[in-house]
Amino acid sequence: MEDTFGRGITYLRLSVTELCNLRCRYCMPEEGLCKKRHEDMLTEDEMIQAVRAAASLGVYKLRITGGEPLVKKNLLSICQRAGEVEGIQELCLTTNGTLLPPLARPLRRAGVSRLNISLDTLNEEKYRYITRIGTLSQAMAGIEAALEEFDKVKVNAVLIGGFNDDEIEDLAGLTLRYPVDMRFIELMPMYDNEEFGPKAYVPGSRVLERMPQLEPVGADGGVAALYRLSGGLGNVGLISAVSNHFCAACNRIRLTADGKLKPCLHSAQEIPIKGLDYQEMRAAMERAILSKPQAHVPLSAEEISEAGRSMNQIGG
Ligand code: SAM
Ligand code: SF4
Repeated sequence: MEDTFGRGITYLRLSVTELCNLRCRYCMPEEGLCKKRHEDMLTEDEMIQAVRAAASLGVYKLRITGGEPLVKKNLLSICQRAGEVEGIQELCLTTNGTLLPPLARPLRRAGVSRLNISLDTLNEEKYRYITRIGTLSQAMAGIEAALEEFDKVKVNAVLIGGFNDDEIEDLAGLTLRYPVDMRFIELMPMYDNEEFGPKAYVPGSRVLERMPQLEPVGADGGVAALYRLSGGLGNVGLISAVSNHFCAACNRIRLTADGKLKPCLHSAQEIPIKGLDYQEMRAAMERAILSKPQAHVPLSAEEISEAGRSMNQIGG
């Protein structure tokens, strides 16, 4: 279905949980979050009903996200059922990868066709620092497990000044070792967090300044500008969500684990669907699509998002 600005909405990002086994400093507030009541979260049946409603309106790409989707007990069942919904052609999942080794194959069998794995550094101590509790070797084991099962694996790093801008070459170099696409994502100012404020923002163009040897390659229809290293087994992508937002081509709608449709990532507007029947849910989804703003509020190192939630509560 088209929104009021003529954009076809074909992509649903479904967050299946707010919970996470890591605590990335730029994603979750330092003090953590209160766990919500179980009965306030969408049930598996409600999630599947929402996917059916979205598919009936023309959504054909579904991304499962979180929090960390792999901590969700019934994740495989959700994937299996969501992927079987008529009209869903692509079932993707975004994960920090640390729990993937035993799950990569079951996920593939449950119908997931593509994985995105988040990895901000190749340094063990820095990984522990940024995730507060994670272990780099587990994330790397996750990438290797994913590559055994999936043809297309993307690795995503958030560019953070003073943290990983000195690792741009090393991270891009992953494409020489593995058949992965390595994508650099600009840090979005989600909430007032001094450590990840203006000084941490690095424009995507910094990657090209640091690596003039990157050769442009054709776009893949997604939001990333694509490049390649000579001998690279995958692309290097830039996702400049802040310096060059892609609102004009936005094809997405988001559903949070507590049942709120978000027409725009950076707007506080939310449409609740918890407890609705199929027809009501479908109508709510239509309303959400029709209320998508033309563009989000300006974002910059000084102007923070109006999302009103941290990223683990939205799903990225
Ligand atoms: N836990 C999973 C993971 O880390 O991949 C899925 C959920 S996580 C919220 C989705 C993505 O959002 C991750 O790649 C994470 O790095 C990114 N993210 C979180 N906070 C961000 C921010 N402030 N700016 C840009 N990306 C952010
Ligand atoms: Fe968890 Fe992903 Fe947020 Fe890190 S980025 S805290 S892994 S939800």
